[in-house]
Amino acid sequence: MTTLDTAQLLARGRDYLVPVYRQRELVLDRGAGSRVWDMDGREYVDFTAGIAVSALGHGDPDIVAALVAQAGRLWHTSNVFHSEPPLRLAEELVQASGFAQRVFFCNSGTEANEAAIKLVRRWATAQGRDPSRRTILTFRGSFHGRTLAAVTATAQPKYHDGFEPLPGGFRYCDFNDIDAFDAAFDDSVAAVLVEPIQGEGGVVPAADGFLRHLRARCDARGALLVLDEIQSGVGRTGTLWAHQWDGIAPDVMTLAKGLGCGFPIGAMLVGERAATTLQFGAHGTTFGGNPLAASVARVALRKLSSPALLANVARQSQALRDGLGALGREFDLFGELRGRGLMLGAVLRPRYAGRASDILDYAAREGLLLLQAGPDVLRFVPALNIRDEDIADGLLRLRAALTAFVVA
Ligand SMILES: *Cc1c(COP(=O)(O)O)cnc(C)c1O
Repeated sequence: MTTLDTAQLLARGRDYLVPVYRQRELVLDRGAGSRVWDMDGREYVDFTAGIAVSALGHGDPDIVAALVAQAGRLWHTSNVFHSEPPLRLAEELVQASGFAQRVFFCNSGTEANEAAIKLVRRWATAQGRDPSRRTILTFRGSFHGRTLAAVTATAQPKYHDGFEPLPGGFRYCDFNDIDAFDAAFDDSVAAVLVEPIQGEGGVVPAADGFLRHLRARCDARGALLVLDEIQSGVGRTGTLWAHQWDGIAPDVMTLAKGLGCGFPIGAMLVGERAATTLQFGAHGTTFGGNPLAASVARVALRKLSSPALLANVARQSQALRDGLGALGREFDLFGELRGRGLMLGAVLRPRYAGRASDILDYAAREGLLLLQAGPDVLRFVPALNIRDEDIADGLLRLRAALTAFVVA
């Protein structure tokens, strides 16, 4: 086999991949904890965790052991047959959820939301609602995935442009605006779909009391509350589920990202009101609950539920906030710091509007992998087991990157 260098590999990407992404000009090769190395041996501190996915960092020995053991035993059965890992994982998720009775497994976030959308429609049908009263209410700035129904639920025009005709039965409302919500929430609405913290939309948490208001209104009107915890769930905010901060429980919750710590898996958890709505033949997917994915997710769920891990999220969140606060003051570059746990966003000051992507390039040059959430927000979603020295090093590298950015 011929070896290819970084430049040659990047050329392959330009020539052969459908160009829907804009990857940074580097090729990652291996990782350990919160450090990764590229093909040229350059080390990076990883503040991205593969977009809030690799919650236990890279190469966690328990995750690797689970995957290797299952790989030597049984890879795939389809859902025509049972295997042990998804059966055990379903029970563990139900127990950990505090509200759910049943679980549907799939392979990604968008598929989990797609399942939830179909579930809502069938549930509304079973309630005797005609199609005009099966509307799903979502919020501006949301992100729910890229398949056609999930992208329609995503109330951001840039994700819709040119994909019309879009599926019907969705209505959009301003996030954190109780009056607008009350005005939009009429008898035609069968469900509300919402992220406890909008992720892609700029790391915007639900305002205090907003989710409680949605919960109360859904109860009063007999609608379902569906929480998209694909990014915020499984420990990311310092509690196992982000909605615990608000003291509410959903009827349906969707998960993906951190659940597999990098192995693709998604899940829809369903509470009592809709647990048996989807019956035999109503929905399905070939790979859902694959034994490899489920084995990994069982270990991930166990480790991400541990009090020590959740305490680390709180501690490192504070360290990151302190460090970012100091950098914000030193460079007068960003103002508001928002988010919760290890899901934080630093909002660029108006004179740097639209420059987040440039800062990411400077960060990569200084050995720091960083994300944005829209053009104006730097997003920090490192591994949840990140160590003190990784946070400290990452902040030092960010300082170097910002120094280079402001003089350029
Ligand atoms: C990432 C994300 C999705 C989509 O997940 P995919 O696995 O990319 O399909 C949906 N909702 C939220 C909140 C997300 O962050």
